[in-house]
Amino acid sequence: MEEYTRIWKQILEEISKKVAAVSYDMWFSKLEPLDISFGKIILVTNLNSIKDTLSKPIYRDKIMESIKTIDNPMVTDFTIINEDEKKEYLSKLNTNTVIEDSSQYNAPKFNEAYTFDNFVVGSSNNTAKSAAFSVAQNPGNSFNPLFIYGGVGLGKTHILHAIGNYVLSQNKNANIIYATTEQFVNDFIESMRNNKVSDKVFNFREKYRNADILMLDDVQFLIGKESSQEALFHTFNDLYQNKKQIVLTSDRHPRDLVSLEERLRSRFNSGLTVDISSPDLETRIAILQKKAYQKNFNISKNIIYFIAEKITSNIREIEGALSKVIFYCQLHNKDEADDLNLVMEALKDDLDSHSNVLSLDTITDAVCAYYNITKDEIKGAKKTKNIAEARQIDIYLINDMISCPLMTIGNYLGNRDHSTIIYARDKVTDQLKNDNRIKLIVKDIRNMIEKN
Ligand code: ADP
Ligand code: MG
Repeated sequence: MEEYTRIWKQILEEISKKVAAVSYDMWFSKLEPLDISFGKIILVTNLNSIKDTLSKPIYRDKIMESIKTIDNPMVTDFTIINEDEKKEYLSKLNTNTVIEDSSQYNAPKFNEAYTFDNFVVGSSNNTAKSAAFSVAQNPGNSFNPLFIYGGVGLGKTHILHAIGNYVLSQNKNANIIYATTEQFVNDFIESMRNNKVSDKVFNFREKYRNADILMLDDVQFLIGKESSQEALFHTFNDLYQNKKQIVLTSDRHPRDLVSLEERLRSRFNSGLTVDISSPDLETRIAILQKKAYQKNFNISKNIIYFIAEKITSNIREIEGALSKVIFYCQLHNKDEADDLNLVMEALKDDLDSHSNVLSLDTITDAVCAYYNITKDEIKGAKKTKNIAEARQIDIYLINDMISCPLMTIGNYLGNRDHSTIIYARDKVTDQLKNDNRIKLIVKDIRNMIEKN
């Protein structure tokens, strides 16, 4: 079975858990997978009604959620095309393959979108990328093993695929094994199931010990799997002695893989261990700009900034937010994302889900409580000293603690204009330098908000 068929089956199974049986039968099950290209699975239907229906946000989200659940790095998105587009796609594919390699079309082993060129570098991931690139240029003779650790969605899998793509571009016969730890464990269990020294056992050794490069993704999943740890230990030693490159990723440092066998932990940590951390604001902006450019979609600066400010957890979430925004714009026939309201609507769920993030209301409630005034008053027109001061402090705190666009603060506080907001923000900033009374007030209100 082709890889894309297998993956589509898994996605369909997830979809079937999420939608009513009628819609499943009528819409989703009618799609035919055609290929995987640059992380997108291409699905074909010749019925416009199916294409239109599945392009509605509610159905699109179901497909995207299912893709996320199966978590296969080869597929991170989808596209639905009709028969004409299919013909076009296939003819392009043929011409491309004829030029590159006349023998046969091989399904790519790595996601072609996950390259070093497409990897945006910032202070959070600079070391990991350089180390990986060095390994890709000189496998087995650079850092061995290379161990990359960091939280979810920060680019570990991307880097492994980048190594794979790079090495294959230099030597298309290199035997590069990329496996998720789950796959490794499954392969091992499968080989044990036939506990005679059967072909299967032989295949397991064949597969893993003949690698020129072995990349094992998310090794934290080895915890609690003692016999797989043992198998990896021997595989590791074999490869290492033969100067074959090993690259591992995990969500934590080897020393924190506490229940892993000590001898394996120390092997993991015996080469170079590097971390990837959460991207800072600048890197998030750079990533959004790059991805928007790749998707050939214009996004105004303040929208990029808004998304980068709001979605801070990881890069996968940032990408997801961007795709949603683009999708919503297309749905509204806009060829540029410049409408903040539309963007907020597109990201409604994502913004809500960060409910630990402060809201404008939480801060304003605290300010009102402190000054003993109502929300209507703080949003209203009155300029009595007390209310004006509360308003300015509210603006300062919102800007400082949430940093949403000034326009949003203005709209929220009774449609005040941009310059009023800037004035208030700068005034309080100044007061904090030399006015002890204001300093204490701001400190008290912050305490109230944080205890909330
Ligand atoms: P992890 O394996 O650490 O959970 P992934 O490698 O799957 O994370 O990355 C999640 C998504 O974010 C992928 O689509 C990947 O291409 C993208 N991504 C991560 N880091 C970067 C980066 N520095 N530049 C561009 N895209 C990135
Ligand atoms: Mg990963």
